Amino acid sequence: MAQIKTVDLTKTFPDAAGGVTALDRLNLTIPDGEFFALLGPSGCGKTTLLRTLAGLEAPTGGAVHIGEADVTNTPPGKRGVAMVFQDYALFPHMTVTDNIAYPLRVRGVPKPRQREAVLAAASELGLTGTASTAGLLDRRPGALSGGQQQRVALARATAANPSVFLFDEPLSNLDARLRLEARTFLKRLQRELATTTVFVTHDQAEALALADRIAVMQSGRIRQLGTPREVYRRPANTFVASFIGSTPMNLLEGIVRDGCVLVADSEIALPDGTVGRVAEGAEVVLGARPEYFRVSPDPVAGAFGGTVAVVENLGSSLLLTLDVAGTAVQAVVSEEEEPEPGAALWALPRQDRTLLYADG
Ligand code: ADP
Ligand code: MG
Repeated sequence: MAQIKTVDLTKTFPDAAGGVTALDRLNLTIPDGEFFALLGPSGCGKTTLLRTLAGLEAPTGGAVHIGEADVTNTPPGKRGVAMVFQDYALFPHMTVTDNIAYPLRVRGVPKPRQREAVLAAASELGLTGTASTAGLLDRRPGALSGGQQQRVALARATAANPSVFLFDEPLSNLDARLRLEARTFLKRLQRELATTTVFVTHDQAEALALADRIAVMQSGRIRQLGTPREVYRRPANTFVASFIGSTPMNLLEGIVRDGCVLVADSEIALPDGTVGRVAEGAEVVLGARPEYFRVSPDPVAGAFGGTVAVVENLGSSLLLTLDVAGTAVQAVVSEEEEPEPGAALWALPRQDRTLLYADG
């Protein structure tokens, strides 16, 4: 059990252009026991941060603390961390048992104690005890399904009884259904073990579902840090706004006029809490999640008025793309609404859920 802290953590990789800054003076405190997600697009520095916490990568500047100790110059094996990689990194020539026992063997844990820890972890991870998993412990990774390999990698991490788990996109090689199962499983496991966890993903749904708190990264920096609810409800900037949400937030350029935002000929009420705080004539970006619209075939004041351009079936709901004077506005509506492409439609965003940005 341990808190993680980084102080001005920086990592620059040399390249032809004089260096890529993968981590840019990161200051981060992750309390003991937290499930912390690092979310961001490919190349933003997630893996580099994880590898730096693990000690697999030396920082160019700054420090890493785990628990009370400054571990910046401590080798990986002495940091009390266990890492699970995207491709699981199991040893192909070793049995499942030997794979799980590996970190214990390296540490010189006595054989009988290794055996105990392997069995406990394997049983915790559902690798023993059922007909379908009988004999699994004696197999080599090549003879396991993707889901089973993933559990072996998790078992190896838990058997070592680390004070910190570092997960680098551990679910991304599983198919959609298994991935959801594994997600729930992982959340339960982390709750039970209460081990401080840093979970890297580029999948916003995964981060929202799993994490106590999420850091959204871009170009080696943290653009927002908050609970899933905070980053979903109140994205701090348009980057975060566009990254979080299963259907992307509408981000619409407009001008403040008479207490409204004028967007593509439609006058939309200013978001709650912004009235009187933005200057008349200011150029802004209005953020409106597709999930928070009401639609009507008849004109509604304060709504986007347009025509239905595209109707996409999402299963329990429909995603509409409206053409509003040449600007696309998306709204999710109930499957009972049956808007036809080409029909006129008014879409009213919920004023308590719209947001205003000046960083468009
Ligand atoms: P992510 O995991 O978010 O996709 P990475 O941490 O792998 O991002 O990479 C961050 C940046 O650092 C990228 O620009 C990447 O090209 C660069 N980078 C990562 N590892 C190395 C390396 N070993 N040598 C040079 N550049 C690297
Ligand atoms: Mg990565």
